[in-house]
Amino acid sequence: SGTQNVQWKVTNNVKIWSVFRIGTAALAVQVVGSNWPKPHYTLLVTGLCRFQILQLLKEKPYPVAEVEQLDRLEQFTNQHKSEEELGELSEQFYKYAVQLVEMLDMSVPAVAKLRRLLDNLPREALPDILTSIIRTSNQEKLQILDAVRLEERFKMTIPLLVRQIEGLKLLQKTRKPKQDDDKRVVAIRPNRRINHIPSATEDEEEEEDHDDVVMLEKKIRTSSMSEQALKVCLKEIKRLKKMPQSMPEYALTRNYLELMVELPWNKSTKDRLEIRAARILLDNDHYAMEKLKKRVLEYLAVRQLKNNLKGPILCFVGPPGVGKTSVGRSIAKTLGREFHRIALGGVCDQSDIRGHRRTYVGSMPGRIINGLKTVGVNNPVFLLDEVDKLGKSLQGDPAAALLEVLDPEQNHSFTDHYLNVAFDLSQVLFIATANTTATIPPALLDRMEIIQVPGYTQEEKIEIAHRHLIPKQLEQHGLTPQQIQIPQVTTLDIITRYTREAGVRSLDRKLGAICRAVAVKVAEGQHKETKPDRADVGEGEDCKEHVSEDAKPESISDTADLALPPEMPILIDFHALKDILGPPMYEMEVSERLSQPGVAIGLAWTPLGGEIMFVEASRMDGEGQLTLTGQLGDVMKESAHLAISWLRSNAKRYQLTNASGSFDLLDNTDIHLHFPAGAVTKDGPSAGVTIVTCLASLFSGRLVCSDVAMTGEITLRGLVLPVGGIKDKVLAAHRAGLKRIIIPQRNEKDLEEIAANVRKDLTFVLASCLDEVLNAAFDGGFAVKPRVERLNSKL
Ligand code: ADP
Repeated sequence: SGTQNVQWKVTNNVKIWSVFRIGTAALAVQVVGSNWPKPHYTLLVTGLCRFQILQLLKEKPYPVAEVEQLDRLEQFTNQHKSEEELGELSEQFYKYAVQLVEMLDMSVPAVAKLRRLLDNLPREALPDILTSIIRTSNQEKLQILDAVRLEERFKMTIPLLVRQIEGLKLLQKTRKPKQDDDKRVVAIRPNRRINHIPSATEDEEEEEDHDDVVMLEKKIRTSSMSEQALKVCLKEIKRLKKMPQSMPEYALTRNYLELMVELPWNKSTKDRLEIRAARILLDNDHYAMEKLKKRVLEYLAVRQLKNNLKGPILCFVGPPGVGKTSVGRSIAKTLGREFHRIALGGVCDQSDIRGHRRTYVGSMPGRIINGLKTVGVNNPVFLLDEVDKLGKSLQGDPAAALLEVLDPEQNHSFTDHYLNVAFDLSQVLFIATANTTATIPPALLDRMEIIQVPGYTQEEKIEIAHRHLIPKQLEQHGLTPQQIQIPQVTTLDIITRYTREAGVRSLDRKLGAICRAVAVKVAEGQHKETKPDRADVGEGEDCKEHVSEDAKPESISDTADLALPPEMPILIDFHALKDILGPPMYEMEVSERLSQPGVAIGLAWTPLGGEIMFVEASRMDGEGQLTLTGQLGDVMKESAHLAISWLRSNAKRYQLTNASGSFDLLDNTDIHLHFPAGAVTKDGPSAGVTIVTCLASLFSGRLVCSDVAMTGEITLRGLVLPVGGIKDKVLAAHRAGLKRIIIPQRNEKDLEEIAANVRKDLTFVLASCLDEVLNAAFDGGFAVKPRVERLNSKL
C-alpha cells in the first residue's frame, strides 16, 4: 500500500463526522511542525481502509464512534472474481495513469517512483492513490472516498485522469520552452492555472484563506505606510498568494505583512507641553533631586520653544533605586506621550536592536520596532534602561546599532533588518539610564548628556518614604492610614538598620513587607469584627462553622491581640519592626572594628552608590613581602605599593619601627593588607590615603579615630590628589554615622553639592599632603614633635 503525504489544514469545522459518514482510517506516521510563529502542523499518515460511522459514542474531548470497515475486505476474500470483472476498467485506468505519469519529467525521483508503483501495486489500489496525487478538488476527493464499490471508483476516477492529461497537454503547447519546470510543478503540486481551464472548482478552505489574504492586501493599501514599504508589501502579498500554505515561509510572510500593517507609520499622539504643569507634576512625583528636575525642565522648555529633537539625549546616571526610571515615566506623562522601557542589560547581539533578517527561522524585529508596535504611536518616550550594561559579542556590537538609532542625522531612516525598509524614528524621544558612565561605549557617551543622580541622604529618604513610598504601598495592599501608622523614627530605623543603599529600592521592599504583615492582622481583625454581627443575624450552619474555627485562636488572642479594632491603627514601633523584618541587618559596627591598630575606614565609589570600606593590615615575620587580598584591581595594588614606599621613606620622621625596632619597616617583616567585602572587585586610586593611614596605625601601634573616614589619591612624594564621587562617598559616610571626613584639598568645590543638613553633621578636613591626613586621622595628631626628638638624641 502506498504511503501518502496528506496535508490537512485543521479547520474549526467541528462536527465533520456528522456530515461525512465515510472516512479513511489511517496510521499517523509522523507529525512535524511548530507552534511558532503560528501553530502549523503537517501530519504524515498511511491510509489503511475506508470506514463508515455507525454510531457516535462521544464527542468530547475527541469524537469516538463505532465504525465499520468498508473496503479491503472483498480484496482478501474473492480477489479473483473482482479482478476478472473489473479487468477492462482497471486496464483502461492503468493506461491513462501511465500516460499521465509519462508526460511528467522522469528525472524527478518522485515521478520515477510513481511510475514503478503503477506496475507494482495491485490495480485496485490505484484509483485512491492517483486521486490523491492529481489535481482534484476536495469535493471530488470525497466523492471517490464515498465510492465504496471498486467499479464505481474506477469509473469516477478515469475522467479525472483524462482531465489532468488534457490540462497538461494544453500547458505543454503554450509553454514549450519552460516545459521542464512546469512538469516539476505539476508533479509536486499542480499549478492553479492548469486547473482553472478544465475545472473551475475551488477548495472551500483555500477560498477562505484567499479572503484573508485579500483582507490583508486591503489593509496594506489603506494603511499609511511609506511608499517604499508599500512597494515591498505589495510584492510580498503577491508572493503570498502563490505560496502553498504548508510552506513555513507562508506563515513568516504573513506575520511580516501583519506587522507592517500594525506599525504606527503615521500615527502619533499630540504633545501637550506646558512648563508650569510639568514642573508641578515633576515636583509632585519626586521629592528632592533638584538638579535633575531643573535640567529636565530646561530640556522640556527648549522643546516647547523649538519643536525639534536634535538636542542631545538625556542620560540619567546614578545608583539603582534613585528614581531614574520613574523620572523618565514622568517626562512621558508631562508630554502626554506613550512610555516604553527597553531594558538593555545584557544585550550583546546587535539584532536585539536591529532585528534578524527574515531569512532566519524564528527571525523577528528588534526591540525598537517591537516597542513601536506595542505603543502603537510613532512618537513615544523610549527609556533605554541600563546602557552601561550593553555587552559585546560575535553577533555584532549592539552599541553601534544603538548609535544609529540615536543619531538624529540617521534615525529618520532607521532600517530594521526584519522590516528591511526604513522607519522614521525622528519623532521618538529617547532617554537613557545607567549606573556608571565608565562602561558606556565612548561613541554612545558622546551622544548623550549625562545627568548625575546621586543617592539620597537619610532625611531625603524619610521624606520620600512618607510622601511617596508608604502611600503607594498602602494602596497596593488595600490598607488605609487608619489601619497602619509608621512613625518617622521607625522609617529611620529601617533606613539605618535594615538597608544600606543609595537609592530607596530595598526601603520600598521593606515597607512592602510591613504592609503585608499588617494586612494579615487587619484581615484577621475584620473577621473577628464581623463575627458578632453574623451571630445576631443567625445564619445557621455557616455561622457555627466560623465560631468553631475561631475557638482556637481566641485563647491566644487574649495575650497578643494586635488585631482587635481598638488597637487600630496598628503602630509600627521598633518591636513590631523586629517581629516583621527580623533582627537588624546592619548594626553600627564601626567603633567595634576600629578597636585595634591597623584598621582605617576608606570611602569607595561603586555604581551602586558610595560605600564605606574597612582597610585592615597586619604584619608578621617574613622577608619583606606585601600580600594584598580582597579582589583588587591593578591601580589599587599600585596604591598599596606607593603607600608602603612613602611610609618607609618617612619612617624615621614619624618614629615608625618594625617589630624588632628597626626603621626599615620591611626588614624581616611581611605585610598583609586586606579589603573586606571580597566579592566586589575594587579598583581606583582613591584608597591611597586610607592605606597609608592604616599602615601608619599598624607600625605606630596607635588607633585611628573611630569616626574618621577618608578618600584621596597619593603620590610618591606624599601629596594628596583629588578623586571623584565625593558626594556619594560623603553620603555613605553619613549613612554609616561617621563624623569627620578627610578629603583632598582640591575636592573642596564638590562639597557645595552636599545638602546643608548633611554638612552640618560632619567635619571636613581638606588635606593637600599626607602629613595633614595623618594628623587628622589620629587623636592629637600624628607628627612627632621635633623638640622631643632633639631632646631624645641629646640624651
Ligand atoms: P532607578 O530607575 O533609578 O533604578 P526607579 O525609578 O525604579 O529607580 O525607582 C525606584 C522606586 O523609588 C520607584 O518606585 C520610585 O517611584 C521611587 N523613587 C525614587 N526616587 C524617588 C523620589 N525622589 N521621589 C519619589 N519616589 C522616588
